[in-house]
Amino acid sequence: MSIRTIEVICTGDELLLGDTLNTNLAWLGHEVASWGLRITRESCLPDDRNALADALRMALGRADLVVVVGGLGPTRDDLTRPVAAEVLGCALAPSPAVAASIRAFLAGRRLAVPEAAIAIQSEVLVGADILPNRNGTAPGFWCACGERVLVLLPGPPAEFQTMILEQLKPRLLSRLEPQVLRAEIQVSGIPESRVAEIVEDRDLAGCGVGYCARPEGITVRLETTPARAVVLADLAARVRAALVPYALPEGVPSLAAALGRLLGERRLTVATAESCTGGGIAAALTDVPGCSAYFMGSVVTYANAWKRDVLGVPEEILERHGAVSGETVHAMLAGLLSRYGVDCGIAVSGIAGPDGGTIEKPVGLVVIGTAVGPERIVRPFQFRGDRAEVRRRATNAALSQLRMQLLGGALDLPSTIHR
Ligand code: ATP
Ligand code: MG
Repeated sequence: MSIRTIEVICTGDELLLGDTLNTNLAWLGHEVASWGLRITRESCLPDDRNALADALRMALGRADLVVVVGGLGPTRDDLTRPVAAEVLGCALAPSPAVAASIRAFLAGRRLAVPEAAIAIQSEVLVGADILPNRNGTAPGFWCACGERVLVLLPGPPAEFQTMILEQLKPRLLSRLEPQVLRAEIQVSGIPESRVAEIVEDRDLAGCGVGYCARPEGITVRLETTPARAVVLADLAARVRAALVPYALPEGVPSLAAALGRLLGERRLTVATAESCTGGGIAAALTDVPGCSAYFMGSVVTYANAWKRDVLGVPEEILERHGAVSGETVHAMLAGLLSRYGVDCGIAVSGIAGPDGGTIEKPVGLVVIGTAVGPERIVRPFQFRGDRAEVRRRATNAALSQLRMQLLGGALDLPSTIHR
């Protein structure tokens, strides 16, 4: 009765229409990875009886554990309970205990009691274990089907996640048979191809390697079997050392957190002067708990008049070189440090698009300046992607540039960052 393979079935027209992002799948993928397993397959289905019945039969023929997400509500499109009953060949019967717990839940929140909805939601699969839902009305179900397990869980993320952690995980723990041991290294400020070169120059000791590049940085994933923990730890340490200074320290969750840690250790303060990132750099810095120790504030100077009035960028520089220029970004940095009395600064000016580009200054051109006291680095970057992506890439390049500057060296980076 061990569990090695897990299939997930997500239901709901809204997932296929693109109205709801399937965050439950992403969250569960992470969670299952921490169990030493991976989701072996996922299907995303419309609210359709036949589609769900087919998918359930197929999944139960393949996987040790099948998790169905959503469709446990009281509306006509909530089909999971009746379809599971049909596929399992079990009956549905009203449960006074479930009805009572739904009433108690609603009463606790001073909500009206919809009798018809309670009648539907308190129908349970006969023979299944009921998984209580303390954040909502729909209970979940644990159905043993021979060697396999079918679990039905509600779709709202807060309910789904809590039930996985509090109900499902404890029941599964003794039966999980970990298949993979994984180590991850977050890297930033260097192109993916260069990361791959550095990693693959090592002796990988038979471990698998994978890369995931996002504007926020690159994740290097090393994998092996659970029996080879020592080999994996050794390889991870060697890869991390080879990727210094680009690798984030172990256990640091983001680039902004890595930069924050560095600023905190050195007792330095920082502020940002942002144009095309619109405060995105400040948002990333303030995502990190405890950032008040080093983050002082941000000015979003979108218009030239604001660059002039708030940062003291001379009018003639703006006129002669334009807002997106090394000269303007230098002046933004100078104003930021002198007017606001910070130790370090980040200034950004660029063309995020889709309009506003010219031949000399195309969309995606972003000038990024960083200052550590009097020491300045101002560089143009040419980012690709749409407006949102240019802004994300600029935000991360700026954080990375200041981090690299603080770490010293490593500034021979290409200023055109391609993945
Ligand atoms: P309810 O009692 O709330 O109806 P339910 O089990 O029927 O619970 P659904 O109707 O499928 O759940 O979904 C309820 C809410 O959860 C919806 O807002 C839906 O968009 C969201 N949701 C469902 N599935 C997912 C998913 N895979 N990822 C993120 N959100 C989801
Ligand atoms: Mg519903």
